Amino acid sequence: MTEKTTVAAPTETTSVGMLRPVERIITAQRQTEGGGFVVRRPFPTAAADQFDPFLLLDEMGPAEYGPGEAIGAPDHPHRGFETVTYMLEGAVEHRDSTGAVGVIRPGAVQWMTAGSGVIHSEMPTEDIRRRGGRSHGFQIWVNLPAAAKMTPPRYQGFEADEFTRAELPNGGTLRVLAGDVAGHVGPVETTIPITYAHATLQPGDVVEWDAADGETALVHVFDGVARINDVDAVSGQLIVLERSSGSVRVAAPGDAADVLLLGGRPIGEPIARYGPFVMNTRSEIIDAIDDFNAGRLGTIPPAGTGVQRD
Ligand code: MN
Repeated sequence: MTEKTTVAAPTETTSVGMLRPVERIITAQRQTEGGGFVVRRPFPTAAADQFDPFLLLDEMGPAEYGPGEAIGAPDHPHRGFETVTYMLEGAVEHRDSTGAVGVIRPGAVQWMTAGSGVIHSEMPTEDIRRRGGRSHGFQIWVNLPAAAKMTPPRYQGFEADEFTRAELPNGGTLRVLAGDVAGHVGPVETTIPITYAHATLQPGDVVEWDAADGETALVHVFDGVARINDVDAVSGQLIVLERSSGSVRVAAPGDAADVLLLGGRPIGEPIARYGPFVMNTRSEIIDAIDDFNAGRLGTIPPAGTGVQRD
């Protein structure tokens, strides 16, 4: 996007008070992971390993897969955190060792609390694998505090029409998956306070996000140009706000823009991280590997025997 119109910057005085300063801008490049998986990953990288309590943000696609090209993540374990998948295009079939089976379709979210451990597979549906198609979605990893790391696994699935949706004055929309944005409260039950929302802004639309004092606040721009407080960010840029008090104002200064808002209370505990396991200590990681190798994280039941949860 090389051309944009300019609108007057909003003033600093609003009903929600001060704006919190932008601390950092991270530019993520689209890259192809092994096997042909197109992702944009603002973190973790060498420059930023996490934004407590968020451990990972992956934008999967958008990609156009031909027949036989779409790939996913076959059976693999997780322990100690939550994986959250939000699809915009395409469809991912989930199966896990608790017996849950579900298809995550456009606009739907799967909030999986791995807790003490699950094995799951995340694959494009058979139709997309066979015939190809577009795919675009997000996966975030949300850490759990020590007290909740070994909680029983839990799976929450929501269809597109189950989210809190607000129409913005200029034709944009705000979808709140979890937490509270401008008085709109999402339906997901989170273990620690988390805000997760998707705003599609038309020119002139503004979302005022009164992020809680001291909490992590991130804005991932994934289409167009968005103005976060007084900073313009293009698609692929993650804006990291200071963990101070004050709100976050997200606007579209030119054409339409799409952003994710991510907020959460920092956990502030040590992190021991090894692939799909995120614990507090190295010995807990070794336990997780031992438990996985010994089959104690379970197995995925054969097709046709799972519990439909979509
Ligand atoms: Mn996974």
